[in-house]
Amino acid sequence: MKFYSTNNKAYQVSFEEAVFKSLPKDNGLFYPTILPQLDPFWLQNLKNISKVEIGLKVASQFIGDEIPFSRLEQIVEETVDFDIPLRKISHQIAALELFHGPTWAFKDVGARFLSRCMAYFIEGSTKKTTILVATSGDTGGAVASGFFNIPGINVKILYPKGKVSEVQRKQLTTWGENISAYEVAGTFDDCQSLVKQSFLDKDLNEFMNLSSANSINVARLIPQSFYYFYAIQQSKFTHNVICVPSGNYGNLTAGLWAWSMGLSIDRFIAASNANRVVPEYLDTGIYKSGPSVQTHANAMDVGAPSNFVRIMELFGGDHFKIKQHISGFSLSDDEILSTIRTCQNTNNYVLDPHGAIGYQALARNLKPNEQGIFLETAHPVKFLDVVDKALQEPLNFDEKLRSLFGKDEVFQSINNDFSSFKELLINASR
Ligand SMILES: *Cc1c(COP(=O)(O)O)cnc(C)c1O
Repeated sequence: MKFYSTNNKAYQVSFEEAVFKSLPKDNGLFYPTILPQLDPFWLQNLKNISKVEIGLKVASQFIGDEIPFSRLEQIVEETVDFDIPLRKISHQIAALELFHGPTWAFKDVGARFLSRCMAYFIEGSTKKTTILVATSGDTGGAVASGFFNIPGINVKILYPKGKVSEVQRKQLTTWGENISAYEVAGTFDDCQSLVKQSFLDKDLNEFMNLSSANSINVARLIPQSFYYFYAIQQSKFTHNVICVPSGNYGNLTAGLWAWSMGLSIDRFIAASNANRVVPEYLDTGIYKSGPSVQTHANAMDVGAPSNFVRIMELFGGDHFKIKQHISGFSLSDDEILSTIRTCQNTNNYVLDPHGAIGYQALARNLKPNEQGIFLETAHPVKFLDVVDKALQEPLNFDEKLRSLFGKDEVFQSINNDFSSFKELLINASR
């Protein structure tokens, strides 16, 4: 399948090109020329199909023969080689737990798939590829884990100083080998902007093979649509509303793709923290991005969500149509804390701050006759400071944390300044 730029439908590239370019030169986003329709009979039979088979079916629609089927099967197997269970929380609400991968957040799924696709494409080539990735916390760790020791690929991670949790920081800075971490004096948006400027910089791109692993990359979105199928496959509800705690809106985009391929989902809820640009757009029809504000759900601290363009693309920019399928909801920091507390008390289930937004948005938005699933996007241990603040008694996750503490952290501190970052990249690759 070809992918076009959302700024120019005539500009089309292969899957491989979309993977390595990540972003079209015209600053649009790559988008599939066709959203494949899955066979309704296959969809009805979902309960009898394995996780790998589902992933393979979905991925092969987008990738065609660019990766041989047997190799793609291996990639999918490695991508989803951990549990993705649906857990019932109350009679109306279930959680899709996406945190059983190596860095305890859903981003492992996209990162594992992307790294293995890239590894396939560069096999036999002698030119090194450098992956630049801006992270508000979870992406970086997942990408580091996904690419660790993959031959021919160096990974450079930019994260905002003081704005990631301790566990997140350790998952960014304790790898070594082909993974380097840069602590930026700025926000996540600043990190993202440094990465974007690098991709648009002519000299830099002549000098080195740059690639991205952010959620703008189609190879991250495609596998993220797998688990919407796993959710419906495991659901005992007759109808499913799906609630997605969102920051950059990649996860929601992947869910919308699954739905548009034929998966039976009644409607979506886009749940945000205090960065309300999308819920506000849904309410008013006016899209006003701005600087991000820092919240307890830091992986969603995004003021200018990059994947929103893809959601507009899916609905032809029609506000009325978007509103028919997606409702918006946002939660304050205080509400995040009270939700974690209440859900623990009433359901004996510990939410992470992002899942708390998903749970609460669903609880308040569901009509009495509706049932729904929210994505529990990370394990609460990644955000212990927030979770401990919310609960009366601190949780004990020593067992889970032991693997991480005691490892040495290595990172370089840098300013939020493109020309010095560019120089650093050039020197590092000499
Ligand atoms: C990245 C992340 C999100 C936001 O996902 P988007 O695809 O950027 O909308 C939500 N929760 C957690 C835990 C995350 O790591």
